[in-house]
Amino acid sequence: MSNIWKRFIYIVLITLFFSGIFWGIFGAAFALLLFGVTLFWIALHHVSHLVALERWLLLPKQVSANIPAGSGEWDDVFAYLARYVRQHSQSQELLSLALERMRNVTAAMPDGIVLLTENDRIEWCNPVAEDHLGISLALDSGQQITHLVRQVPFVEYLLVRNFTKPLILNQTRRRHKSVFSLQFVPYGFNQKLLISRDITRFEKLETMRQDFIANVSHELRTPLTVISGFLDTLTHEETTPDFDKRALALMSEQAIRMQSLVEDLLVLSRLENEQNKINETIINVADLLSEILRGVESLSTEKHLIKLDIATQSQLLGSETELRSAFSNLINNAVRYTPESGEISIHWQEKDGQGVFYVQDSGIGIEAQHIPRLTERFYRIDTSRSRETGGTGLGLAIVKHVVNRHDARLQITSEIGKGSRFTIVFPAKRLVA
Ligand code: ADP
Repeated sequence: MSNIWKRFIYIVLITLFFSGIFWGIFGAAFALLLFGVTLFWIALHHVSHLVALERWLLLPKQVSANIPAGSGEWDDVFAYLARYVRQHSQSQELLSLALERMRNVTAAMPDGIVLLTENDRIEWCNPVAEDHLGISLALDSGQQITHLVRQVPFVEYLLVRNFTKPLILNQTRRRHKSVFSLQFVPYGFNQKLLISRDITRFEKLETMRQDFIANVSHELRTPLTVISGFLDTLTHEETTPDFDKRALALMSEQAIRMQSLVEDLLVLSRLENEQNKINETIINVADLLSEILRGVESLSTEKHLIKLDIATQSQLLGSETELRSAFSNLINNAVRYTPESGEISIHWQEKDGQGVFYVQDSGIGIEAQHIPRLTERFYRIDTSRSRETGGTGLGLAIVKHVVNRHDARLQITSEIGKGSRFTIVFPAKRLVA
């Protein structure tokens, strides 16, 4: 039983006891008067403490030092209250310290952070995000972010809500063009964390790298054509001694390899350059594949059984040059990595409304661990075999870029010793009936 109950019962019993004695000595009226006075005194005691409590509660800030002094059971109540207020202000202090620390940490972060509500309104942001996105926490809190960051790609990105890849956004800040990578991280109940990163420097470096490769390749092209031409002439010159002819043939072979490398580097840098929009036409895939096959059969010199299977008359919307390059690379690879008398089949079909192109070979196959890395530049499983067969190590990197530029998917399945299948799946929007 609580102390308050105990004290109440004690007072009632004492009052009853004395009222009884007074009843015996002075009569009922006197006893009732005593009882009434005692009740009035108890009520007065409580009301005066309640008033003190009310006054304290109405203070602008409740601190334990201001808690009124009490007597009787109110002494205990006020002591409990003081303890509660002390604990509460301690945890509040800890909380504001933690909040302050969080604010300092996020302010010191090199990345911008914006907290967005489920309907994309700004809840909070750090100073870096204010700078990156041109927003202000003080003025724009609660505003729809798309009213402030109005670029079309940003609005579309938020609308589509596919946040798997970051959005690259060009912004003009203080008259300078900047590039930002924006990553949305969903959290809580449909809320989003927007992380912005300034990648202007990396973009510049990447452009410099691409320009450098393109320029070097371009500059090498003409001297290599000249060297290759003269080597060819000299090799076939009757007056050239046989020993020299062998050396010249070898040099010519290497010059041709270098030419292929330069050509592939140029193709790759053209594909990498996002300014180069794809030149779309409607392509008759059957015709394109037959044409490529005629070139490949000379490479295969009838060592392989090559089949072409066209299961749909659907045409493809895309860049003929780029698709020719991707299809040729996959078909040439099948020829180069399939031993003599192996089988190669090339397919064009429609599946679930999508266009499917695939090359199946019965060649050497690829170990599973290499598959995810095959589309990296110069990634080769067997470097000497790749060189022997005239590979540049860039074929699949070119294929990957073409596939991406056509919103398609590249799938590779393979089994060692049994063969490989390289599939390109084109979305329905690229098929023309
Ligand atoms: P490369 O010019 O070396 O062939 P690619 O980028 O075309 O360069 O291919 C990368 C690597 O993938 C090759 O070196 C080879 O090891 C492997 N590869 C590609 N196609 C096939 C295939 N059809 N069968 C087996 N291995 C393949």
